[in-house]
Amino acid sequence: MRTKLLYQEDSYIREFEATVLDVIGNKVVLDKTAFHDGEGGVQADTGYLEASGVRYKARAGKEGGEVVHIIEGEHSLKPGDVVKGVLDWEPRYRKMRLHTAAHMLSAVLYKRYNALITGGDITPEYARDDFSIEGDMSQVRRAFEEAVAEVNELAARGIEVKVYWLPREEALKIPGITKLAEKAPPDLPVLRIVEIPGVDIQADGGPHVRNTAEIGQVKILKVENRGRNKKRIYYTV
Ligand SMILES: [Zn+2]
Repeated sequence: MRTKLLYQEDSYIREFEATVLDVIGNKVVLDKTAFHDGEGGVQADTGYLEASGVRYKARAGKEGGEVVHIIEGEHSLKPGDVVKGVLDWEPRYRKMRLHTAAHMLSAVLYKRYNALITGGDITPEYARDDFSIEGDMSQVRRAFEEAVAEVNELAARGIEVKVYWLPREEALKIPGITKLAEKAPPDLPVLRIVEIPGVDIQADGGPHVRNTAEIGQVKILKVENRGRNKKRIYYTV
């Protein structure tokens, strides 16, 4: 990957300057970006790129292992151009709040029931996660309600979220470093670690809030039975 991922060091960067490295049709590769590409089930960021006073609406994506900025409509961007990138901050910040909440919820359900995530999605409006939880739906519903109550209690404590990098080998020794049933950590020599001290520690590449107090209250929207290892919860903040 040629692009430096600014959000991995500071998830609060909403404006940045970058140089165009490559243009493939309507897809633009930059030397650095604050746009998250939608990896890990988090909906990709939107915003715009601006060059020579012209604004181009853009949405991030991933292609051939690289972050691309997909431009809406015609554009005249070319390699070497300096652009200003600006994120649509409101939806992005909501995704950060839901993402940190999702880590806390998965940690609480893992601790209580050894439940693993078997799928998930984070949009600006809501998050949904599937968990491998046993029991009938009234038990599952109660399990989710109790877990969310614990998440809210923990979030209100205002725990500082830590982000750092560890050599892969060292990271993989940490118990519970991956709670995703379907996915191993990325095949990288150094892994980015997101730690919510006392609650959760995971290898994760995405944007998070700095402090759990920013999450606010998690509210359950819907609970569904999607099969034996798939108890689905929709929630928002
Ligand atoms: Zn995550």
